[in-house]
Amino acid sequence: MNFKPSIHGLLPEDLEAFCKEKGQPAFRAKQIFDWLYVKRVSSFDEMQNLPAPFRAQLAEQFVFQCLEKIETTGGSGETQKLLFKLGDNELIETVIIPAPRRKKNTVCISSQVGCVYGCAFCASGQKGVIRNLTAGEIIGEVLEVANVLGGRPDNVVFMGIGEPFDNYDEVMKAVRILNHPDGLGIGARRITISTCGVVPGIQRLAEEGLQVELSVSLHAPDEEVRAKLMPVNETWPMAELLDACRAYTEKTNRIITFEYILIKGINDAPEQARELVRRLSRFPSRVNLIPLSPVEEFDGERPDSETMKTFFQILEKAGINTTLRDSKGSALKAACGQLRARRL
Ligand code: SAH
Repeated sequence: MNFKPSIHGLLPEDLEAFCKEKGQPAFRAKQIFDWLYVKRVSSFDEMQNLPAPFRAQLAEQFVFQCLEKIETTGGSGETQKLLFKLGDNELIETVIIPAPRRKKNTVCISSQVGCVYGCAFCASGQKGVIRNLTAGEIIGEVLEVANVLGGRPDNVVFMGIGEPFDNYDEVMKAVRILNHPDGLGIGARRITISTCGVVPGIQRLAEEGLQVELSVSLHAPDEEVRAKLMPVNETWPMAELLDACRAYTEKTNRIITFEYILIKGINDAPEQARELVRRLSRFPSRVNLIPLSPVEEFDGERPDSETMKTFFQILEKAGINTTLRDSKGSALKAACGQLRARRL
């Protein structure tokens, strides 16, 4: 990529280094951060307490708007899907999921253009990966959502397009920017990173000392079914993945949430629920059951509600904290796994 870096990809310490380089006092960094994330201005010109020549230097070096909203699907107060064009004309999608009763908004963000893993049931990976998003672009998604909502979102989940652990450094930088108390101040526990099972990413995250939530897309009770649904299982088989998960929980004292899409006749039998219980019994975990969202390329169906309830109850009775998630946004093609990398 040969376009200018985004101002939103910088931590306060990076901004400080820039200020120093330009002969400005260090406190300017805090002023800039405040304009960006507390006042949420949309241009350098609005940063009134900075000297004009310094604003010009910033504008020369950095872009302000690194993504352009070109389409919004859904209305305010309901699930909304935003389509963004990036500086190199690539497209990504971001979803806003409101919980009106709790007055909380969750934003589901993308971390890559496309995805390399090609899970059978997921639209995002059907055409491979094109590139990683920069931290600035990831923050850009959240800020655009903050503009739509008129305030920062309450929760951020890396469950849009892409595999966050394949873009580890930029994702972590984005997490630190989102989390920074001088900026948006989104608590680490309100930020969830979801992985399809990239073991080295789980191992690295265990060492970060961050309180972020980790979600692992499991989707099957055994190696065979998982390998059929998720080619990633060849690289990191389920046994290895679960070992890494156990090590993660031991190291961090945090619980992992396992995502499990229910697909009729494939992974929804009571025996499979019991197998899942056995697999997860070695460490503390939660399970999120998700009825399959329809995707053109995959001819699976969601099970009937009785089957899903039985599956749910087997996990619950075994003492695993389980939710049967209603996948929001299906009609908009904004539900889990329905986001796809599109091209203009
Ligand atoms: N690559 C990461 C993050 C993106 S996917 C991961 O795999 O976790 C976010 C969630 O949507 C994952 O749990 C994914 O498995 C789920 N998902 C994908 N396709 C889906 C579909 N058709 N129906 C329901 N959930 C789906």
